[in-house]
Amino acid sequence: MSILVTGGAGFIGSHTIVELQQAGYDVIALDNLSNSSETALKRVETITNKPVKFYKADILDKDALNNIFDNEKIECVIHFAGLKAVGESVKKPLLYYENNISGTINLLNTMKNHNVKNIIFSSSATVYGNPSVVPITEDCKKGECTNPYGWTKSMLEQILTDTQHADNEWNVILLRYFNPIGAHPSGLIGEDPSGIPNNLMPYITQVAVGKRDELGIFGNDYDTPDGTGVRDYIHVVDLAKGHVKALKKINEKAGLCIYNLGTGKGYSVLDVVHNFEKANNIKIPYSIKPRREGDIAACYASPKKAKLELDWQANFDLVDMCRDSWNWQSKNPNGYKE
Ligand code: NAD
Ligand code: UDP
Repeated sequence: MSILVTGGAGFIGSHTIVELQQAGYDVIALDNLSNSSETALKRVETITNKPVKFYKADILDKDALNNIFDNEKIECVIHFAGLKAVGESVKKPLLYYENNISGTINLLNTMKNHNVKNIIFSSSATVYGNPSVVPITEDCKKGECTNPYGWTKSMLEQILTDTQHADNEWNVILLRYFNPIGAHPSGLIGEDPSGIPNNLMPYITQVAVGKRDELGIFGNDYDTPDGTGVRDYIHVVDLAKGHVKALKKINEKAGLCIYNLGTGKGYSVLDVVHNFEKANNIKIPYSIKPRREGDIAACYASPKKAKLELDWQANFDLVDMCRDSWNWQSKNPNGYKE
């Protein structure tokens, strides 16, 4: 029996395949490579010394999905495949709703038709909207999302919840990620954004490697200790390990479960810049820009439920994350491109 990892060539998917293979699972990766490279999977094979069976396929393609489920014995799906660029989702909402929502509905129908009813879904802290209290616990009410990408996550959580409620043979785990950064300590796999990075850490590493002149910090007048936005940054390897723990939970007939995956610590943009500078001995020039539309002041997790029920907690700290992000970027200045 195998674990099907959709979006397996992507940033979090590739790191999760490493952890799954190292924990002894058989893994099949599916990806349309719209935001990734097959090289990532070759690098995973180098790290684990195990082959990764790969299907280049689109979750919008029902026939392709059917074929995979006909050919393989799949016990659980870890579903990463999706588009994730917040700004692009505002400009192209239908693309996001179709890819993320229609694609996931195709996947769920194919799973149901093949009697595979175990799924772990990549959700996001964005479903909480602007939280009224931090740290955020899983029983905090979901909020208003500020962009179509966020709504796809919120709506998919509802679709998965309704699916499990209608048929309790389904085991559904919704993992709400906080801010994944870092890279595998080998420097072989990491985040490889196309174009100008939207997220903080890839922007910083591109400044460090000389691709961008300076970091723009989006606002220093928030109600936070230094005025810049506070987030819960989590090492992608810790996040990946959370999926292995979630898989164990699925095998215990989980029903419907929701977990935050974060460290429980909030760091400001300036904290990240200063820790990056210290960890890597590189100066990051920056200037203060206006606030970015849709941003919130502070967002960090209570990770207690995941600790209690999954026996999972983050182990890497911010210095580790800064070191590993830079290790990846400096060894691969152009990402997976030669
Ligand atoms: P990523 O873009 O690196 O990985 C997603 C993968 O899905 C890519 O390899 C892409 O090619 C593939 N994909 C997209 N649409 C597809 C389709 N129709 N068919 C098949 N493959 C398709 O992103 P990531 O950072 O690894 O994120 C993985 C998941 O986690 C996504 O669902 C994302 O929304 C979610 N998430 C990410 C973050 C983050 O900050 N990185 C935070 C919260 C949630
Ligand atoms: N940020 C910034 N400059 C950038 C990118 C991000 O100042 O070039 C800030 C952003 O305003 C937020 C934090 O860094 O306070 C994390 O942003 P990111 O986009 O990485 O994550 P998200 O906003 O989705 O939590």
